[in-house]
Amino acid sequence: MKKIGLIGGMSWESSLMYYRIINEEVRRQLGGFHSCRSLMESVDFAEIEHLQHRNNWEALNTLMAQAAMNLEKAGADVVVLCTNTMHLCSDTITSHINIPFLHIARATGEKIKTDKVDKVLLLGTKFTMESDLYKSRLAEEFGIETIIPLEQDRATVHQIIYEELVHGIITGSSRKIYIEIINRGMESGAAGVILGCTEIPLLIRQDDVTLPVYDTTRIHAEAAVALALENNA
Ligand code: GLU
Repeated sequence: MKKIGLIGGMSWESSLMYYRIINEEVRRQLGGFHSCRSLMESVDFAEIEHLQHRNNWEALNTLMAQAAMNLEKAGADVVVLCTNTMHLCSDTITSHINIPFLHIARATGEKIKTDKVDKVLLLGTKFTMESDLYKSRLAEEFGIETIIPLEQDRATVHQIIYEELVHGIITGSSRKIYIEIINRGMESGAAGVILGCTEIPLLIRQDDVTLPVYDTTRIHAEAAVALALENNA
């Protein structure tokens, strides 16, 4: 089994989910007492959030590259960045390490393609929704069209992530707001919804909506285990 190197803390509420899923998945596949070989480099999210909202991506790139290098030096075989937003630093990360980096949008695209869904609504932070983190990759590699909510809805989705979800605050009223936004996406032709922020699955489950839900936390964590167990005799 390969050792998974997790960059966590963004937020730790979702890093916990990654840790749980990778261990549950290894136990499901290997049985017995098996658990996942892993390392986690967990950052202080206050520093990250401060830099994000000041658009200091140069400093963020440096921090993410350093975290990935620390994991490689500590013996990780693959790097898994436990947040969608910070994948905006993925080019810098990959240029600083010699081990594979498992991109969350690629893992998600593969899953959506398997379901033959060709148009998806993307929910996430403003950084994720308003950048090219998903759009081009899904279009070019998988032929999937990505749409995003209207501006006011994007602001609401973003605000709920930073004011509630990353603090572990899960409310019925925010769930209702997200469901309404997802339903508007369905009216615009989306055939699936990407929960493109690793905390959104704490709020929205498949049972809450009719559209197929793509939980990026679970998809990414399960893809990491698939990679870790590749060639496992
Ligand atoms: N975990 C979130 C994401 O998946 C947001 C927190 C962050 O900015 O990293 O985008």
